Amino acid sequence: MARKYSSVRPKITSPPSNRDGDGNHVHNEILLGLPPKESNLLLPKLEFVRLKLHQVLHEAGETLKSGYFCNAGMFSVLTVTPDGRHVEVGLIGKEGFAGIPLIAGFRTSHTRVVVQGEGTAFRVDASVLRAALRESPNLERQLLRHSQLMAMQVEQVATCNRLHGMEERLARWLLMTADRVGSDALPLTQEFLAQMLGSTRSTVTISAGMLQKAGLIAYTRGNVNILDRSSLEAAACDCYASLQRQTKEWQGQDE
Ligand SMILES: [Zn+2]
Repeated sequence: MARKYSSVRPKITSPPSNRDGDGNHVHNEILLGLPPKESNLLLPKLEFVRLKLHQVLHEAGETLKSGYFCNAGMFSVLTVTPDGRHVEVGLIGKEGFAGIPLIAGFRTSHTRVVVQGEGTAFRVDASVLRAALRESPNLERQLLRHSQLMAMQVEQVATCNRLHGMEERLARWLLMTADRVGSDALPLTQEFLAQMLGSTRSTVTISAGMLQKAGLIAYTRGNVNILDRSSLEAAACDCYASLQRQTKEWQGQDE
């Protein structure tokens, strides 16, 4: 039988590095997706940092000194109102990067970015990133794609916050969070959930109670465990599936 696949077999190249020079594992998908040439240029210039719960990476209105390739854990992107209230408009996990305005050459942040749970990241100085973008077309392309995915997420979350009920929004948010932290056990208090969803604690308590009663989640002090993922997906509004669909569609349009 003819080996008809041989003509389309991809050219073998050396695999991209999955560790930095200090031996820290790289989990960030943007960094892992870089060709070796760009990876070898960029990785030595990044600083591996451990992040604490609620650590503020970027404050709204302030200068962006660095960007962060999320390596483990999750970042929340929050809009902040003059009276001090804030609502979450985006989530970033190991697929992403905090400091998106830097990609366009902007130097300040419109949003606050906060670490949720403990995590790690590869920090890049703003000036290093600017130089790297000039000499690394794949890095630039991956960051542009990520910023478009984040814009799409924000559009969907804006729609969700306006049109959908608390219970289905909570289900949607838990699924998005679980995807980013890579676990069905989520360390979350009701107060935190209320802040993230722009709601009151009592409303979140009622909605979490309904999801728990239906056997979809187990909720204890400060912890949510997803017990039945497919039913939780069914309980979520279409926003979750819509985000998944669009992400998959765009990923299929690579090149
Ligand atoms: Zn929704």
